Amino acid sequence: MAMKRHSASCHCGAVKVELDFDTAAGTSRCNCSICRKSRWWGANVKPEAVRALSGEENTFVYSWGSKSIDLHYCKTCGIRLYGRGDIPQIGGKFFAFNVACLDDVSDEEFAAIPVRLCNGRDNDWMHEPKVTSYL
Ligand SMILES: [Zn+2]
Repeated sequence: MAMKRHSASCHCGAVKVELDFDTAAGTSRCNCSICRKSRWWGANVKPEAVRALSGEENTFVYSWGSKSIDLHYCKTCGIRLYGRGDIPQIGGKFFAFNVACLDDVSDEEFAAIPVRLCNGRDNDWMHEPKVTSYL
């Protein structure tokens, strides 16, 4: 696959985003406290890759700890569609989105998307956790 314009939305459709993303560039799943509990399947793009975003006024923001990322949840359906962060160690500002919310990807394409497993729980993001089968 290659860089392509994708659309994603929350469950009820109140919040929508269009962004440029190459699914082959990879996505991640992580065992940190929030990823594990929310079953987050995420990918990051540069803020410039976001082409359109609507419904942000219908989101609430959750942030915790070092507050390095603002997670946006739809007020109506509760789906977390995206977050904005700024972490110098991974290249500064980024837009994180929920890969499972892509609306224009077939089952076969979802199955082919590479997933990197991260040991976020131990702040060891570049390595896989010892146990990964449940992620
Ligand atoms: Zn919604």
